[in-house]
Amino acid sequence: MIKKFYVYTGVLSLVVSFIFSFSKTDTDNYFYPIKNTITISSYYGVRQLFNEYSFHTGIDIPASPGTSIYSISNGVVKYIGFDNNGYGNYIIIIHNNLYKSLYAHLSDNALVKLGDNIKKGQIIAYVGPKILSNGKQNGNTTGPHLHFSIYSNSGKTIDPLTLNYQNR
Ligand SMILES: [Zn+2]
Repeated sequence: MIKKFYVYTGVLSLVVSFIFSFSKTDTDNYFYPIKNTITISSYYGVRQLFNEYSFHTGIDIPASPGTSIYSISNGVVKYIGFDNNGYGNYIIIIHNNLYKSLYAHLSDNALVKLGDNIKKGQIIAYVGPKILSNGKQNGNTTGPHLHFSIYSNSGKTIDPLTLNYQNR
């Protein structure tokens, strides 16, 4: 009985350490989209604004307009668009044909085109102003910041802060 127990825990710890090492090497490779800041103005998850609850699908990183935004990993530009009410100017990059990263409230001059191959750490755009040069609101924003979301392989958002970043 005791012997069986030791065999069981031995196997279990092997499995656990294998899964841990796999997930660690997998997630060690990300590049944080804004350099030299750890400040978050709004976290992932349920948030309350004026007695109304909503789900924040990413994190908000405050930064001045013109701040460089870096791709978190190698990928392909999947979407470049504008959403008046939500994201303003935004870019979606797909990684390994599986999961996606989204960068929102960008400046008008994106540095990438639809279908471009992107390298990890490549500058893809800049943080945009609250009001764009054409007078339009840059999405639903109270001030310049990067809204950053990650969609998992299943298409659901995950908390971007659960990943490891080499530069954060
Ligand atoms: Zn946000």
